[in-house]
Amino acid sequence: MKKGVLLVLSGPSGVGKSTAVAELMRHRPQLRFSISATTRPARPGEMDGVHYYFKSRAEFDAMVARGALLEHAEYVGNGYGTPAAPVDKLLCEGYDVLLDIEVQGAMQVKRARPDAVLVFLAAPSFEELERRLNGRGDTAPELVQRRLETARREFQFADRYDYLVVSDKVEKTAGELDAIFTAEHCRTSANFTQRKEE
Ligand code: 5GP
Repeated sequence: MKKGVLLVLSGPSGVGKSTAVAELMRHRPQLRFSISATTRPARPGEMDGVHYYFKSRAEFDAMVARGALLEHAEYVGNGYGTPAAPVDKLLCEGYDVLLDIEVQGAMQVKRARPDAVLVFLAAPSFEELERRLNGRGDTAPELVQRRLETARREFQFADRYDYLVVSDKVEKTAGELDAIFTAEHCRTSANFTQRKEE
C-alpha cells in the first residue's frame, strides 16, 4: 500500500488555519488531522481528544522524556507536541496526515522526516491578522499583542517552507492546500519507490 503524505501546516494564530483545514477535510476523505498534546487550558467549545489532548505540565514532560513526541515546542508559555505513534500508524495505513504546528516544531519535523511537506499559511497583511485576532473575541488584548509579535518572528521562517499559501477566502485557501496534496501524490518519488517494490 502507498504511504500517505505528511503535511505540516504553520501560520500565525488567527490566520484562519482551522477554518481552512475544516474545509479541506470535507474534500479529502483520506486526510487525517494529527491531534496534539498541549499544556494550555481548553478554550470554550474545545474537547479533549478532539481538538487537543489537554495535559498537565508533568504529563507533558513525561511524554517528552519517553520520546513519545515527534516534535515539541514552547509557544506563548505553553508546551505543544505531536504524538508520534498515531502519525506513523496513519501514514502506513495510507492516510494523508496534517499537522497544524508552529515553526520550531515544523523545523524539527523537517529534520526527522525529510519527506514531510511544509506549508506556510500567511495572512494577507499584519493589519488584517490583528483585525482577525481581535475579532475572534476569545483572546485577551495583551495575548493578541504577544501573538502578533510571535507572528512577525515566525514569518521570518516562511522561506524554509516548501509552499506559501496566502489565507484570504476560505474556499481558495482550502483549494490551494488540496492542490498541494494532489501534486505531492503525483511526485515521481512517491510513485517510483512503489513501483520498484511491486
Ligand atoms: P492554539 O493555542 O492557538 O491552538 O495554537 C497555538 C500554536 O501552537 C499554533 O501556531 C499551532 O499551530 C501550534 N501548535 C498546535 N499544536 C502543536 C504541536 O503539536 N506542536 C507544535 N510545535 N505546535 C503546535
